[in-house]
Amino acid sequence: MKLLIWVLVAALVVFWIFLSRKKQQASRKSGPDRASPSAGRPGPGDGEVMIACTRCGIYLPYSEAVIGATGAPFCSEDHRLEHERR
Ligand SMILES: [Zn+2]
Repeated sequence: MKLLIWVLVAALVVFWIFLSRKKQQASRKSGPDRASPSAGRPGPGDGEVMIACTRCGIYLPYSEAVIGATGAPFCSEDHRLEHERR
């Protein structure tokens, strides 16, 4: 009877180790994979083209830029006007 209890305890311990290892593997797998695409930083990696404002040189995504009459990109309407006034 004692032997049976020990076997049961051993089986439980093995099962518990097996479960915790599986959890670790799962978190290791999903950890870096999830972190890299949704890092939140806009950069050349996620397809958004970064351009520099012609007036002040600040970098911004192309979709947020104000494009002047000459096709030059600006960070804001103010900078476009300031540049084209000259
Ligand atoms: Zn600017």
